[in-house]
Amino acid sequence: MLKVTPPERYPPEEGRYARGNDFSPVAVCVILDDFDFKIPPRLQELVMAGLDAGAALSGMLQTENVGTEKMLCNIVANPNIRYIVLCGRESAGHLPGQTLLALKEHGVDMKQRVVGSEAPTPNLSNIPMEVISRFREQVVTIVDLLAKPGEKDDAAPGLDPKTVEEAVRTCYQESPVEFRGYSLYDIGAFLVPAICYTIASKLTQPMPAMATVDAGKSKMALGLTLVKLLPQTNCQECGKRTCLAFAIDLGKGKSRLEDCPVLERPEHNADRQALAKLLE
Ligand code: SF4
Repeated sequence: MLKVTPPERYPPEEGRYARGNDFSPVAVCVILDDFDFKIPPRLQELVMAGLDAGAALSGMLQTENVGTEKMLCNIVANPNIRYIVLCGRESAGHLPGQTLLALKEHGVDMKQRVVGSEAPTPNLSNIPMEVISRFREQVVTIVDLLAKPGEKDDAAPGLDPKTVEEAVRTCYQESPVEFRGYSLYDIGAFLVPAICYTIASKLTQPMPAMATVDAGKSKMALGLTLVKLLPQTNCQECGKRTCLAFAIDLGKGKSRLEDCPVLERPEHNADRQALAKLLE
């Protein structure tokens, strides 16, 4: 079974995920459908179940655009990852799960908008087509266990840590095993060198879509754009309950970038500069 050592900079993007076995063929993607400060314990359990079962990466996906772009960057940086187990509960507002499935199935159009996505802004314009195409080729199957928006039944497959564990373990069997309609086994690494790309440098230049946001028309819309560049830790050090609340106040001119101490850290320099440009 051919496996490759991921590059030194892997995984290139930060986020709410944990790194597990670099040689595993599977990553776990738990949809985070909650913008509250605390990540629901059930969703944390799913992330840990993926990691315990041997996933290469296991973490949260919250948005259909920047969050998805970061996930793609991390996956194409490790050619060993050939499957994604998609679980948790779909987020009614952002539809990141449906967007991910549509991306695998249909790709993107000329403007790098995910074809078939029903999300409000499924634009992947911060990453090159090379990353998008590579993701679609490298990941052979997305195991869809996703529960519907608002699903409360913890026994639903996508909310059940044991089902997630089983899905992950099935992905690294030596020969094909049937799992909920999928035929899964470890097919080895994708035989093309890793791509190590980060979106931070791109975000230092306002994106066309961002540049057209008319702050005068919609402060709320501006806030929704700004939040994508905030650290999204919801740590409350700025005095706001969430990064989104802070972003909306930024858009309204009620808060300043300096009020977020996390943004002062060197790793957020590029995002801070991009935010400053958008607020000019
Ligand atoms: S301090 Fe920064 S990172 Fe923390 S909640 Fe406020 S905006 Fe988000």
